[in-house]
Amino acid sequence: MMADRKSLQQHVETLQRLSFKIGPYRPPSEGGSASLLLRVTENCPWNRCTFCEMYKGHRFVYRPVEEIKADIDRAAAIRDEIAAVSWKLGSEGEINRDVAAALIAESRDLIANSSFSVVFNWLSSGGRTAFLQDADSMIMRSPEFVAVLKHLRETLPSLSRVTTYARSRTLSRRRPEELRMIREAGLDRLHIGLETGDDELLALVRKGVTAAQQVEGGRKAIAAGFQVSEYWMPDLGGRERRRRHAENTARVLSAINPHYIRSRPLVPRAGTPLFEEVAQGRLQLSSPHERLEELAWMIGGLEVTSSVCFDHSMNAWADLHGGLLFRRDYEGYRFPQEKPLVLERIREGLAVEEAMHVHVRKLMRVHSL
Ligand code: SF4
Repeated sequence: MMADRKSLQQHVETLQRLSFKIGPYRPPSEGGSASLLLRVTENCPWNRCTFCEMYKGHRFVYRPVEEIKADIDRAAAIRDEIAAVSWKLGSEGEINRDVAAALIAESRDLIANSSFSVVFNWLSSGGRTAFLQDADSMIMRSPEFVAVLKHLRETLPSLSRVTTYARSRTLSRRRPEELRMIREAGLDRLHIGLETGDDELLALVRKGVTAAQQVEGGRKAIAAGFQVSEYWMPDLGGRERRRRHAENTARVLSAINPHYIRSRPLVPRAGTPLFEEVAQGRLQLSSPHERLEELAWMIGGLEVTSSVCFDHSMNAWADLHGGLLFRRDYEGYRFPQEKPLVLERIREGLAVEEAMHVHVRKLMRVHSL
């Protein structure tokens, strides 16, 4: 380690000057691994799904490569400042509580500095994973995305996994060689919002993609070597469409056979067209038992070798002992081996009174679990 003549105060002053763009959303599994968050585009290039409030009112921004590279450089500079402080304190480069305490004692403003917080948490968790924001990074021109990924991997060599959100429609339009180039440049995993495999429902919620394009996009991504994580949305079709929604989703997911299948039950969000439909009674949501029946149809129809995950607080159903029906970890249930177990858990949930499921869901919401 080279001699570092800066005082602690000088390090803090430098940290306060350094910042890079961070978007508001990332998948829970990326929070679990304290991924470094970097914004390669801003907001959603589609932004029309009727259930989604995430980027409403914000226009899509295609960021120039040089800007993104400069953000990566600033994240690296923050890393270096924090590491220098660690060495100065005798922690030998380890990023721990002592380092945090010393920095915050020097300036409490650092607590509100999101660039510092994200880099600090990332480093203290080993600095291994990064998540590229926002809603559809694959929209970037392939050579530009490759340049960003190469710079990221060169500048932050501790990374062993880089992931991002992608739309199936965008993936379906990419040539296989483009996808392979992006994969080889260092992008490992794609998080894709499938929501449903039912064409009628896809059109109703204005997802901007067909089931066939979802299959094409997912398969192309897997063929290019990506790990693929597909999210489906129980209850998106409400009571009336739940059977078709479940069966067609199982059909499409089976055709893709992604590495991960993650359940994200519908939550009507204020300000969305779907919220209005529910408020005006045009869309009737399912009861907890009806949602479990829908799950049983979907899970029963899955012919995959995937991990099926319930890693979100909205998957809150009670078991017969008042605990949670499903495991909540990010690796989930291994299919096909654990498919009978998941179906058994659903049968158990159907034997629990609906009021108990409602109670558990409220508890999860109140405690933001
Ligand atoms: S594509 Fe994703 S982020 Fe964009 S509007 Fe639809 S659900 Fe929201």
